[in-house]
Amino acid sequence: MDEQLATDHLDVRWIHGSASRRRRTDPAWQVHHHRDDTVILRQSKDDTYEAPFTFLLFGADRAFLLDTGATKDVGLGHIVDALVDGWLAEHPASAYQLVVAHSHGHGDHVAGDATFADRPGTTVVGKTADDVQAFFGFTSWPDEVVGFDLGDRRLELMGLPGHHAASIVVYDERTGLLLSGDSVYPGRIYVTDLPAFIDSMNRLVAFVEARTVTHVLGCHIEMTTRPGRDYPIGCRYQPDEPPLEMTVPQLRDLRDAAVSVADRPGPTRFDDFWIVNGMGLRSQAPLIARGLLGRAVDLVRRR
Ligand SMILES: [Zn+2]
Ligand SMILES: [Zn+2]
Repeated sequence: MDEQLATDHLDVRWIHGSASRRRRTDPAWQVHHHRDDTVILRQSKDDTYEAPFTFLLFGADRAFLLDTGATKDVGLGHIVDALVDGWLAEHPASAYQLVVAHSHGHGDHVAGDATFADRPGTTVVGKTADDVQAFFGFTSWPDEVVGFDLGDRRLELMGLPGHHAASIVVYDERTGLLLSGDSVYPGRIYVTDLPAFIDSMNRLVAFVEARTVTHVLGCHIEMTTRPGRDYPIGCRYQPDEPPLEMTVPQLRDLRDAAVSVADRPGPTRFDDFWIVNGMGLRSQAPLIARGLLGRAVDLVRRR
C-alpha cells in the first residue's frame, strides 16, 4: 500500500441537499479527488433522495467505475469522460479501458448504465449474481476472493449477498479502501436474506482482519450525527450527516448486530446504523422494495 495514505477522516464535506427546494445549491454530482488516482462522487439529493456515492479508480491499463447512480440522465457519463481525459493527459496510455461494475443490482446503483453502453473501450458488467460471477471469474461464489487487475493496481472482490443477491465488496490494495455498497454504511441496512447476510459479514470481518483497511466506504448516508437517529426516508436535506467512512470496529459491530436480530424481524436501531431484517415478516415480497421497508421503519419510529 502507498505511503501517502492517510488513515484519518476523508478531507471532504459532502453535498447534502439544498435548504430550500426553490433555490438549488448543489451540483448534480460532487466530484472529490481522494487522491489523483481515486475519485469519490456523490449524487445530489436535489435529483434523488438516495444521493448515492460512486467510485472511480484509475489503474495503468483501465479505470474501474463502481455504480452509475440513481437517475438515467447522462451527467455521470460526461463527468467520467472528463475525469478519464484528465487522467490520460497526465498518464498517457493507449487503448485505455473503462470497466463499469456495481456494488449490487438495485436501481439506485445501476440507473446510469445506459450512459456507458455505447462508450468506446467500455465494458458494463451485468446486474445479476450470474453476470458478476461470469465477468470476474468466480468459481466458488460467494466466499471466493477474486482478484481484478487495473494495471499495477489490484482489486480484490468477494460476494456479499444478504442485502441483494449480487452484492459484492471491493477492496483496493493500493489505497486500503473497502467499498461495501449497501451492506455496510451509516444508514438503514436492509437485509432480505439474514442468514446469507450474517455469513457475508463473518467472511468480511475475516477478510479485513487479514488486510490493512483505511476506510470502509458504503454508498449512502442516512444517519444523523446523533446516535441511533436517522433522517426520514425520502429526506432531501441532511445538514447533520456523519462521515461516509466507517471503521473496521464499526464493521464488527454491524456483524454482531446482525447476529443479534436473527430472531427479530423488522427494523432495529443501533448507534451508527439500523438493521431492517426483512426475514420472517408476514409478507416478504413487498419488503424487498426499499420504499416499503422504509415505510415500516417510519411506522416503528412514530410509535
Ligand atoms: Zn441496495
Ligand atoms: Zn442503495
